[in-house]
Amino acid sequence: MRKVPFFSLELQSQKLKQSVMDAVSKIIDNTSYILGEETTRFEDSFAQYIGVNHSVGVSNGTAALYLGLKALELNEDDEVILPAATFTASAQAVAQLGAKPVFVDIDPHTWTINPASVEEAISAKTKLIMPVHLYGNPCAMDELVSLAKKYKLLIAEDAAQAHGARFKGRQVGSIGDMGCFSFYPSKNLGAMGDAGAVCFNDPGYEEKLKAYRNCGKDAAGAFEYLGFNYRMTNFQAAVLNIKLPFLAEWNERRRAIAQQYNTSIVNSKVSHQKVQESNYAVYHLYVLKVDDRKRFCDHLDKHGVGFAFHYHSPLHLQKPYTYLNQKAGTLPNTEDLFARCVSIPLYPEMDQLAVDRVIEVVNMY
Ligand SMILES: *Cc1c(COP(=O)(O)O)cnc(C)c1O
Repeated sequence: MRKVPFFSLELQSQKLKQSVMDAVSKIIDNTSYILGEETTRFEDSFAQYIGVNHSVGVSNGTAALYLGLKALELNEDDEVILPAATFTASAQAVAQLGAKPVFVDIDPHTWTINPASVEEAISAKTKLIMPVHLYGNPCAMDELVSLAKKYKLLIAEDAAQAHGARFKGRQVGSIGDMGCFSFYPSKNLGAMGDAGAVCFNDPGYEEKLKAYRNCGKDAAGAFEYLGFNYRMTNFQAAVLNIKLPFLAEWNERRRAIAQQYNTSIVNSKVSHQKVQESNYAVYHLYVLKVDDRKRFCDHLDKHGVGFAFHYHSPLHLQKPYTYLNQKAGTLPNTEDLFARCVSIPLYPEMDQLAVDRVIEVVNMY
């Protein structure tokens, strides 16, 4: 039986191994390990790629969210509206700053934050909306931007799953006040370790972010801020500099595979995530919503097709957020998705035989 793994970085890593070894070797020779030339080069190229004036490299995606929100002066007592259908780090950044996450429901078709639910949740304390481009699918940014304007709110995009995705032609991560990215190895653009970046246009945030990530040290070398150590390392920046030129091509390959899943997986027991036609989704994950998760996964298992859950539980039902008192049953579309979602194999190096096999097995269910 032909097995299809859920995910593999093996082919991509082997292909890039020699260039990475050469870059690492140069860094060892010049001994500039942290926040050096590779980091600056990556920040410039990534800002250019995303279409923003500035990008600041940090140690991981969670740090990018945390520092991005801190630069936007999110304070205790402020409320942040975000979807409960996301990875836990989105809300972690909010709660660690002492602000209150307010979880809202997703659209039942696109599975991204529902602007109507956002508007209902706005209170006098709301400071910010955090759209999450879930699985690489751009959120309804025009409606969210209108809401932000109408109620004078800020927007920090969690673009950790959506490097290169476009909303009506605009790169996600460049539309809100802050765009936060993770380069966790399995992301569309991944380092060979942890890394992240914050993207923005307003030059006023640059000094603060660069100081926050580096123990509060400003451009003149004075410790003018209360900071953290969330610095990017040059090894990771070097890997990202090697990989960035391939991102567009890898996203195209993801989309080509997704296109085949969209059209060739035809089974009344599974449904697909809907992407608005004007948007360019980058399929960080290909997720199906199935009638019975246990039965579907047993079927995939029996036929050697790998799978995963993204995620097991919506954020309002996770233990750290029980203090918010958002009960089960309050976010029906989110709860339904996370009870029945199954991610199937999709990564750029997957060959056609593997794609065909996944389609065949899902259709057999
Ligand atoms: C991966 C991810 C993060 C966190 O990134 P790390 O680099 O793992 O800290 C945040 N939000 C979302 C939606 C993610 O998928």
